[in-house]
Amino acid sequence: MIYLDNNSTTPLLPEVLDAMLPCFTESFGNPSSIHSGGRRALFHVKEARQEVAGLLGCQASEIVFTSGGTESDNLALKGIVNPGDHLIVSAIEHSAILVACTWLEKHGCEVTRVGVNGLGQVEPDSIRAALKPNTRLISVMMANNETGVLQPVEEIGRIAAEADIWFHTDAVQAAGKVPVSVNRIGCDLLTISAHKLHGPQGIGALFLRAGTPLRPQLHGGHQEKRRRPGTENVPGIAGLGRACRLAKAALTNGSVDRIAALRDRLEDALTSLIPDTRINGRRAARVANTTNILFENVGGDALVLALDELGIAASRGSACSAGAADPSSVLMAMGLNGQQSRSSLRFSLGKQNTADEIENTISATPGAVARLRAKSAVFWSA
Ligand code: PLP
Repeated sequence: MIYLDNNSTTPLLPEVLDAMLPCFTESFGNPSSIHSGGRRALFHVKEARQEVAGLLGCQASEIVFTSGGTESDNLALKGIVNPGDHLIVSAIEHSAILVACTWLEKHGCEVTRVGVNGLGQVEPDSIRAALKPNTRLISVMMANNETGVLQPVEEIGRIAAEADIWFHTDAVQAAGKVPVSVNRIGCDLLTISAHKLHGPQGIGALFLRAGTPLRPQLHGGHQEKRRRPGTENVPGIAGLGRACRLAKAALTNGSVDRIAALRDRLEDALTSLIPDTRINGRRAARVANTTNILFENVGGDALVLALDELGIAASRGSACSAGAADPSSVLMAMGLNGQQSRSSLRFSLGKQNTADEIENTISATPGAVARLRAKSAVFWSA
């Protein structure tokens, strides 16, 4: 299979598996146990905490391990705001933020969802305009999961600092693809998820700047300094740590540039070979691995299935809403209509993809699009 759905999840790298395996065998202890078995497990947790901090440019003590991006996002929001508070998010956030906001509204908070321009970018001035005296938190993602468009988080960080408001960024789709420095961004909280950077599923982290007050959402033991109690997922944490180490290296060893070249080749070829095709957000700064392409007059889900039959895995958008017939709210926020949004497909590349795979995708896709367009023309003329 040619796997081009890495924004949904990435294959585990062999080096990551190597880091995890000892945690199932000789280091299976509970990191809270004071005997040597527990200390061996604790060693893996400590080492991983350093690696995650190394990727984000923070202190190891500022890392809270969670079960993934969804939990980190929920913890960031629900742990900071109180009833009566106002928070600002962008309209293109992942459902982990948007649905948490709906929950917060039901629990006495006020939420402003700021729109984006035609390139899919949040405009910092619209964040500034949304500020209120009771604004307590701003949450804007670093890179969008559907388009890959990078958001002006550094500028938003400055707005938050000037207004003395907490700032969270969801960096799930940015980490490992662009440098992520919590100090450069100026954020107080930041979310990452292991399975988006060739680590295992079900493990992630929240960066929590020292001194940021956070109300835990779980109550129990003393783990993670009570910020997230529960016996640690030691193999997952070890996998996340190794994935972060490899992700950091990939930023400078040419791996990200190689993926960018493959993505650009795919975009150039598909848009020149297939008429009525457009890249959503093309002129914006984007992460290197993602392209979101509008194939006019083609059902996106039908194209995903047609490509799947040809051995190519792509998707219509966020894995959390794929399969739903709904148009993408991200693309609609960028000004596409419902039909265009349903006709757009995301190809997201990863470290494992080869030039041959991209050439095979370029050979297969025009025919699949033409067949679907011919079918829908017959349908409309019938
Ligand atoms: N945030 C973004 C931007 C995502 O793309 C995703 C997953 O698609 C999540 C959060 C949720 O992460 P997880 O799958 O680890 O819960």
